[in-house]
Amino acid sequence: MLAPYTTLGLGGPALDFVRADTAEQLVSSVAEADHAARPTLLLGGGSNLVVSDAGFDGLVVQVATRGVAVSRDGEQVLVTVEAGEDWDPLVARAVAEGWSGVECMSGIPGLVGSTPIQNVGAYGQEVAQTVRCVRAYDRRTRHVVDLEARQCGFAYRTSMFKRDLSRYVVLSVTYALELAELSGPVAYQELAGRLGVGPGDRVPLADAREAVLELRRGKGMVLDPDDPDTRSAGSFFTNPVLTAEQAAELAARAPGHPHWELPDGLIKVPAAWLIEQAGFPKGYGRGPVRISTKHTLALTNPEGAGTTADLLALAREVRDGVREKFGVTLVNEPVMVGCAL
Ligand SMILES: Cc1cc2nc3c(=O)[nH]c(=O)nc-3n(C[C@H](O)[C@H](O)[C@H](O)COP(=O)(O)OP(=O)(O)OC[C@H]3O[C@@H](n4cnc5c(N)ncnc54)[C@H](O)[C@@H]3O)c2cc1C
Repeated sequence: MLAPYTTLGLGGPALDFVRADTAEQLVSSVAEADHAARPTLLLGGGSNLVVSDAGFDGLVVQVATRGVAVSRDGEQVLVTVEAGEDWDPLVARAVAEGWSGVECMSGIPGLVGSTPIQNVGAYGQEVAQTVRCVRAYDRRTRHVVDLEARQCGFAYRTSMFKRDLSRYVVLSVTYALELAELSGPVAYQELAGRLGVGPGDRVPLADAREAVLELRRGKGMVLDPDDPDTRSAGSFFTNPVLTAEQAAELAARAPGHPHWELPDGLIKVPAAWLIEQAGFPKGYGRGPVRISTKHTLALTNPEGAGTTADLLALAREVRDGVREKFGVTLVNEPVMVGCAL
């Protein structure tokens, strides 16, 4: 069963399962499966996956490569990390060593190799800001390639890797971090408030990490076996980005709604606000699955008693309710395996 490999604790069996401890094993497992035209699923920490109850009819390759290499590049440090390293210990090390640029992404579950996939981000930072290069196996050309950040197509919670999950296997990621005792400029209002500073100020790295972890724990966003609200895939819906026309339609239905202005006249709307206003409060339940009691965006399987079908039914109810009330269609953030919203 794949359920124990996912943070939601959901998902049926895999036809085959292999663990790749070296980059060579990772490449050869995928290459052989491709050669035999077998479907392949790369598995990291399973924290952004919704796997169907029927499971996966192919080969699951668990990414378990290890290693961190550090070098200097002027005032920056280049940290090259194998895909199977856990993300948060890397952030903890960066904070301890005085490497600035990832501290606000403390407490995000999962592996390093998954961070470029959806351009992981939180509290005003995203990996697109610090990724220098991604080494990947290109399944189309069958070559290992080094992709510069500008080639990765990073955007809000997506990248070219996520747009076509069947093409690249991430082998390692090189982050360029600033040698500094202070965090990057604090860009997120809630974090600035918690730290008692103004937006744009910089704070000691350890303070930024602690404040982010506290905020995240309060929302059930740090994995904790004792907190059923953390049995989730993080935010289930992305914040919708609307064109000026769509924004005008929403403004007619919901005058004064909260939003952030983006370049090019686009606006981003908090999905959590839409969900709550559409009648789905924190803790809203449907059988064994429910919205987190701490965070409207997280759908949870709190006691581990639900199924993927239960979760999808709740997700559809929320999506359809928001669409009916506001004319905005929410899109799922986690990757769906063998199922769709
Ligand atoms: C409690 C909680 C809080 C979260 N908070 C955040 C947050 O603040 N910000 C945020 O951005 N995300 C957040 N997430 C989502 C998730 O943690 C991230 O997306 C994370 O990067 C997923 O890593 P993973 O290793 O678990 O990936 P998985 O879930 O195992 O895989 C995700 C996708 O990446 C693919 N993949 C995995 N490894 C590779 C590889 N080496 N090469 C190519 N493809 C690969 C998989 O096939 C899959 O399509 C949260 C999740 C949880 C459960």
